[in-house]
Amino acid sequence: MAFLEVQGVVKRYGRYLANDQISFSVEQGRLFGVLGPNGAGKTTLLRMITRIILPDEGSILLEGQPLSAEHQRRIGYVPEERGLYRNLTVLDNLQYFGQLKGLSRTEATAQALHWLAFMETHGWEKKKVRELSKGMSQKVQFIAAVLHRPSLLVLDEPFSGLDPINVEVFLRAIDELRSQGTTILFSTHVMEQAEQMCEDIVLINRGRIVESGRLRDIKARFGIRRFELDFEGDSRFLEALPPARILSCTDHSVAIALENGFAEAQQIIAWALERTTIRRAECIEPSLREIFIETVRRSQSEEVPA
Ligand code: ATP
Repeated sequence: MAFLEVQGVVKRYGRYLANDQISFSVEQGRLFGVLGPNGAGKTTLLRMITRIILPDEGSILLEGQPLSAEHQRRIGYVPEERGLYRNLTVLDNLQYFGQLKGLSRTEATAQALHWLAFMETHGWEKKKVRELSKGMSQKVQFIAAVLHRPSLLVLDEPFSGLDPINVEVFLRAIDELRSQGTTILFSTHVMEQAEQMCEDIVLINRGRIVESGRLRDIKARFGIRRFELDFEGDSRFLEALPPARILSCTDHSVAIALENGFAEAQQIIAWALERTTIRRAECIEPSLREIFIETVRRSQSEEVPA
């Protein structure tokens, strides 16, 4: 049984279909990415998984049980828009949110102080939220969502607006939660981060799933399409290759487009060895960014205009 199951979920805003028959499942303890361009329907989906809004059709199950108000205590949610009380201090906010999720005031305080230290936010307890920068309040919002040790943590665009140092702090916190067994679902349109973090993904475009599964299987399905060769000496031997196949070429390095993956790469290596000295040869997997762009474009071109 999957930890979280989304089955045939539909959400309409008036006549607009924001989520159209979304189905996928998430295994316990996994880091799962909900990807898609702006307006794809990611936030709508996450708001249904956190039961802030309800689906019009379909169902969402947590450990086999239909999602209910009871489950909300087991879920932590970091929304895209901040939801802290601006005139209260950081600690007052955290104590309030911790108690809302069932912690005693003492437990909430202890967890708040632990996470404030972990997130490198020492000494912020007494600051009013209105005095915090965007990135600082993002950290406090994150702490508010994890204080009660949720078994499912849902993060909507968790890295937007963070500088690289704070991205690292967030990644460390996510690692820590995963090592404790937390299942984490997050949305993003920043493919490089998703690529670095996720084991499994769904890719949504215009409310529909256009790709899903384990990232490594999706990459394997797309196949190797690019091959890089570093060589010694001049590059004249490359003149024998069709120019359209050469993606880029510098003094001692060339990137070649492959039509037949690995087998073709082997042939090129054998051919090049007779003509030059090879320093490095590497088949390059498609990046998630390339997969994203190609899949979204393909799904748009397949859509029948209404
Ligand atoms: P982004 O990456 O830009 O945050 P998203 O993938 O999270 O986008 P959603 O916020 O889920 O997308 O929005 C999906 C679609 O549903 C959009 O076209 C949006 O305008 C529409 N939508 C979202 N919320 C509402 C609402 N409350 N009322 C009407 N339409 C809405």
